[in-house]
Amino acid sequence: MAIRNIIKEGDEILAKKCRPVEKFDQKLVTLLEDMAETMASAGGVGLAAPQVGILRRAVVIDVGEGLIELVNPRIVSHEGEQQEVEGCLSCPGEYGITTRPAKVTVEAQDRSGETIQVQGEGLLARALCHELDHLDGVLFKDHVVRMLSPEELEEE
Ligand code: ZN
Repeated sequence: MAIRNIIKEGDEILAKKCRPVEKFDQKLVTLLEDMAETMASAGGVGLAAPQVGILRRAVVIDVGEGLIELVNPRIVSHEGEQQEVEGCLSCPGEYGITTRPAKVTVEAQDRSGETIQVQGEGLLARALCHELDHLDGVLFKDHVVRMLSPEELEEE
């Protein structure tokens, strides 16, 4: 495993749409494991492949309930609404309040290509929406209701 460089906002890679993963090979496993290590070392709860410069539909999430690897994920249902503070490893030091579904169900493939389903509420629902957005070139700022001021950041 290796820690990869996290691409920051302003790089056009983050605005691109990712292609589906077609090969479930060792290269994918290495990518997922590197992404998990990179996310953990940066103290994040999620990371999408384009954030390490790979334009493929793969994300990792860990909100403290164990590592989730999602390949070719899509939201199949969502309900409710929540407004909470959100940030992104590609936008260091910036936080804003976003509106997201309260609960989402995601269908995806695991590292070997098997179909899996993940349900999330609260922080996990936000992380799922946030990371899946990255695969379509969307940043949390596109959903932001209001960015936090420097004074509010000090209180966080
Ligand atoms: Zn992000």
